[in-house]
Amino acid sequence: MNDLAARLDRVRDDAPTCRHNARTIAALTTNPGCVRRALLDAASVDKAAIARELGHPPQFGQSQFAITRGNTFEAMVKANGCAELLALLRDTLGLSIPEVGYVDLNTVGDNASNVVRHQRTRQLLGRAIRDHEATLFDHPLLRLDIAGAPAYLEPDVVAVQIDGLFHVIEIKSFPVIDEQADPTQVATAAKQSAVYVLALRQLFAELGESQELVSHKAILVCARDFTNRPTAAMVDLRKQLAVVSRQLSRMTSIENLLELLPPGATFAPGPELGDTIAAIPARYAPDCMSHCDLAFACRAEARAAGSVDALGRGVCDDLGGIDSVGTALGLADGSFAPGPEHADIAAILRAAHRLRLEIAG
Ligand code: SF4
Repeated sequence: MNDLAARLDRVRDDAPTCRHNARTIAALTTNPGCVRRALLDAASVDKAAIARELGHPPQFGQSQFAITRGNTFEAMVKANGCAELLALLRDTLGLSIPEVGYVDLNTVGDNASNVVRHQRTRQLLGRAIRDHEATLFDHPLLRLDIAGAPAYLEPDVVAVQIDGLFHVIEIKSFPVIDEQADPTQVATAAKQSAVYVLALRQLFAELGESQELVSHKAILVCARDFTNRPTAAMVDLRKQLAVVSRQLSRMTSIENLLELLPPGATFAPGPELGDTIAAIPARYAPDCMSHCDLAFACRAEARAAGSVDALGRGVCDDLGGIDSVGTALGLADGSFAPGPEHADIAAILRAAHRLRLEIAG
């Protein structure tokens, strides 16, 4: 275990754990400046458990029904060595895949440890590259460095070698009706696939192989119309790859972020947890509600502090550097005199306040 991993283990202590996955990494890139989330995720701490411990349990998440439906759909598509998936790739996408091998990487023998599964994935992908084998890899275990700490990721299926390129295949149970799918769900799936592509490219680079061997197109498999039958489409990920790589590269190294913790602090449940979490800077914004388990806790904190962050990025930008709701209200009603740097925004706030009084009066 390296020094960073040992430090993260110490900080995690006996907090409930939750591994990074493509969904959490894609969400991380929506608020890359949030140190709190970055540290908790790097230490593999279960943020939902922390939120419950703080008295602000998350009130969203995938329903058990959706999880079960997703698992059933994936199992059906991958049954009999991915026979259905292969037929789909040939018939729907018209891909010419002559002979295809199938490797189940869910476990290696009886060993399901991350390190062993990742080593086996490396070995088999390396061999497939050298031998130009067309193979479906079921649940390979990839690794992606997030702010200097490794995260293990498990795509549904990687990487059939088609015309010499490896493709990520993402299986989602949401429906495609008349060839149209919900754009939000497609965008989320595309961002998650981009995370897998980056992890696969990292592995290829570690093997000394060209990252260009990993296609920028993922294959998205969804449910067709109102049936449980699958359909597939190629999704171009170039935009998502650019966004995710740029935001991951901007993240401050986890080692630097660990220095922000109070000495000896850990994420173990107990009376000191609230103070430890409060000591880590957060960047709450209303869209945290749709992608972070700590959203209710961070919103309560931002509201209690009177922070304009609770009002959203648009309002923060409009307020041009004023960071407290109290200051904004004081400038609006004239009870605070603005400094020269806030003269413009103060004039706008006073005008808005006057209009509001006229309308109300
Ligand atoms: S909810 Fe809190 S911890 Fe999560 S991203 Fe937002 S500010 Fe960060």
